[in-house]
Amino acid sequence: MKVIHTEADWNKYWLDCIKTDKNIGLVPTMGALHQGHLDLVRQAKSSTDIVIASIFVNPTQFNNQEDFDNYPITLEQDLEKLEKEKVDYVFVPDTDTMYPSQPKLSIDFGELERVLEGAFRPGHFNGVGIIVAKLFNIIRPHKAFFGQKDLQQTGIIKRLVSDLSIPVQLEIVPTRREKDGLAMSSRNVRLSQEERQASLLLYSSLTKAKEELLAKQPWLKVQQQIHRDFEQAPLAKLEYFELIHPESFEGYSEFDLKQKSSICVAAYIGNVRLIDNLPIIP
Ligand code: AMP
Repeated sequence: MKVIHTEADWNKYWLDCIKTDKNIGLVPTMGALHQGHLDLVRQAKSSTDIVIASIFVNPTQFNNQEDFDNYPITLEQDLEKLEKEKVDYVFVPDTDTMYPSQPKLSIDFGELERVLEGAFRPGHFNGVGIIVAKLFNIIRPHKAFFGQKDLQQTGIIKRLVSDLSIPVQLEIVPTRREKDGLAMSSRNVRLSQEERQASLLLYSSLTKAKEELLAKQPWLKVQQQIHRDFEQAPLAKLEYFELIHPESFEGYSEFDLKQKSSICVAAYIGNVRLIDNLPIIP
């Protein structure tokens, strides 16, 4: 496994891959790797010839300085994990490599910006769009792998790729959970023991709402009940709990068995902001 830091270094290896007709799979990450990230790596290994993972904590997608400052960094362990998975290359650029100058371009994803993560994290998707476009242009992968855990992010990246005709195939990998249901996230290590317990409310509220919807309870009633559940949990603060179309991200006020739907949730547990989602009608 080769660890590379600059675009120039990658260019040499990229040429070797292309000359030998190898398919390149990219797994973009911000490090602090867990099993969810490794699922992406495994899927990449099974469907491309050469796998390159990237590790870069992208400052422009953080709308909250404290979240950026506290983002866990575990590079040495990350590299060990990737080596075990037989990843071919790891791209670990520094900020000057990714941002030789501050971008003047900003990307407006339209309606997607105004709901869920877009509404609660102003500027976040612009930062995601810019960094993913840069990684695609630098690495030039044939395929790129993203997690369903960040459902709206997958919508943003699909738009980016289709609107800019970027020649990359996207693969979306299911959410990996802890045994008790909590979606794996790099931020989970910041939870205290009590907060870790309280964090179960995200997944339990998703599964409870799904059951009730399928038992024909009206969505607005289900949603109100979940809001009350969160109000009664002292360590939790709900930001949103919405039933949406999983591609347009438009909110529904009623559940319809014949329409695709997912529920998306975001909540603070203590100071840690967590998100999760569950398909209801895929
Ligand atoms: P991050 O390092 O948080 O930016 O995540 C890098 C990639 O891993 C993104 O495509 C995420 O959606 C994906 N990912 C994060 N957590 C999980 C999880 N629990 N299961 C599957 N994929 C995940």
